[in-house]
Amino acid sequence: MDVICKKCGHAHRFKIEVTDFSGFVCAKCHSYFKGKTVETLTYVKEFSAPLVMQWATLGESVKFKRNSYYIISKIQRFTKSGEYGNEFVGLNANQDDIYFSDGVDYACALHTIDREQVTLLPKSNSCKFGNRHYDLEYTEEQTVVYAEGFVFENLESTSTTLTYIQTVNEDRFISQEFIDNDVQYYQGIYLGDEGYYKIFDTYNDYIARKEGVGTKLRNIGVFAVLLLAVLFWVLNWGQIGKDTYKFDEKFPAKKANSEFVGASFELKGDKPKKLVLEGISESKSHPIQLMIKLVNEKTNEIIESGTAVHENNDVNYASGLTVDFCRIQPGIYHLVFVTSSTNGAADMDVNFELTEDYKLTYGGTSYTFLILCLVGIVVLVGIFRSKILAIKNKDFVARAEGLGYFDILKFDRLGVALVAFFAFFVAVNLFVNSSTDCRTTMRTSNLEDHTYTGSRSHYRRSFYGSGGSYSGYGSGHK
Ligand SMILES: [Zn+2]
Repeated sequence: MDVICKKCGHAHRFKIEVTDFSGFVCAKCHSYFKGKTVETLTYVKEFSAPLVMQWATLGESVKFKRNSYYIISKIQRFTKSGEYGNEFVGLNANQDDIYFSDGVDYACALHTIDREQVTLLPKSNSCKFGNRHYDLEYTEEQTVVYAEGFVFENLESTSTTLTYIQTVNEDRFISQEFIDNDVQYYQGIYLGDEGYYKIFDTYNDYIARKEGVGTKLRNIGVFAVLLLAVLFWVLNWGQIGKDTYKFDEKFPAKKANSEFVGASFELKGDKPKKLVLEGISESKSHPIQLMIKLVNEKTNEIIESGTAVHENNDVNYASGLTVDFCRIQPGIYHLVFVTSSTNGAADMDVNFELTEDYKLTYGGTSYTFLILCLVGIVVLVGIFRSKILAIKNKDFVARAEGLGYFDILKFDRLGVALVAFFAFFVAVNLFVNSSTDCRTTMRTSNLEDHTYTGSRSHYRRSFYGSGGSYSGYGSGHK
């Protein structure tokens, strides 16, 4: 049967005959007409467009439990508690009806049942239907805010719905609806979201749009990761490259309280960088205190490490040694190893020998923070992705065709979160790179056997020395 809107002339075609209606709402201009026949429909008012997306399309054929129905009504209600609910009426060729209903946190299908089949037990706020008990759980008062197609109630009056949930199977319920001074009973079953949405054609469209938005979100993620890597590279320009120098030096002396001057080396570059010493320090006398000084041969500036003690290690005579020198200017330097006996004034008059086998690394940047931030940004975009693509944001996703990257960044403040993240990343990098009060520190560790291979310090002793160890750089301290 066809219904032509008397206001805008839009033709609504239904593949089924509908009777017993009390009105009709045009799907195009939203005009509401009252009347019991198509011919006698009279204009009442005009609804505004629905605020929340509706899954069903007027006139579409849907399948539910092997039955086919045509959608003849779409209604959107607004409850007193401030939530939207949709109801779609389906009718099949045998004039059997079905009601599909969804809201913020539910989706269900309902069938009309006879009033006589339900026994109300008002004292216990429950009812009985087919030997099953149902408990009253929700009472909602609601008004119609939008409709389309045939209507069977006065859309201008409010209705009250009482929901009784079955005690044995909570997926089943009885709905008692008061409308137009009448009461109607429905038997309902809650459906999973996916199972419900799949009933309607619009859902397939929605899935395609969701993929479109998902792709844009993935692109935003990829761009953010690349931008972060580029920022890291720019902010740490000049720090990323590193130079290493290796030394193996042996210092004999007559006394334990001595100063030994190491070979000179040049730290190249144009800005201060960190200098790390990793090595093995060995002294035949124990216990002995060791301090390392880094001397700038041009300015004579001296940077001292802390003092380490060579304990009487029962495995061997060596200690693993790590010194972080903070922010060293480029230039020519040498190290001075200062030893002293730990028992103070009484110097040991012995054949003392100190062996220093070490590697210096100038420059280099830690990637830990970058890696943490890269993981962080992937997680951040991932969280927003699952939030934005969640079914509760279907109205946003359904706009997919018109959605640009800017719309997505504006949604749920994804853009603000990303900007904050980048600002944090840049601030930490700038702070670390500009910080001048980093401390020079020294750590020692025991080497576990005489081959040094069991050491927790990963630098291995090189017995053959390396180029440059005793090179001819002069040292003013010799
Ligand atoms: Zn119309």
